[in-house]
Amino acid sequence: MSNYKKLIIAVDLSEDSAAVAESAKGLVAGTGAELHLIHVIEPLSFAYGGDIPMDFSGIQDEIHQQAAQQLGRFGEQYGIAPERQHIVLGRPEVEIHSKAEEIGADLIVVGSHGRYGLALLMGSTANGVLHGATCDVLAVRVGSKKKS
Ligand code: AMP
Repeated sequence: MSNYKKLIIAVDLSEDSAAVAESAKGLVAGTGAELHLIHVIEPLSFAYGGDIPMDFSGIQDEIHQQAAQQLGRFGEQYGIAPERQHIVLGRPEVEIHSKAEEIGADLIVVGSHGRYGLALLMGSTANGVLHGATCDVLAVRVGSKKKS
């Protein structure tokens, strides 16, 4: 049985998120551990910077609302209360670390694709989360490269 007391599950809201949440739940089943969810929205200005002189605030609000609805449904499915569902704006690795520290999580759970080649060189969120984490990190293998 695991001794973890507070888990934060990072979800990108893709179809892989279910596998990540299920592994986290399974790990602490019956222990009374507290589960939190985090979804990070990357500001459009990160992608488009100053290249396009546009006001993204309307689109950004729309993205935020959609993500909040999706995360709400996801949380409900896994029995995670709204106050433990966090939506933050920023870079995923940075915000996941920061929220984990803020709530005193002892385990961060992320999905990890079996990357190779160029994609491996470019790095992954799981890698970024692992480096610099101040608590344990569980990387759950997700995606089509998952071994059966
Ligand atoms: P990636 O390396 O970007 O393919 O993402 C792998 C895992 O990182 C996902 O399964 C999530 O656990 C986490 N992740 C990626 N993007 C986000 C995001 N925007 N918010 C929260 N977690 C994320």
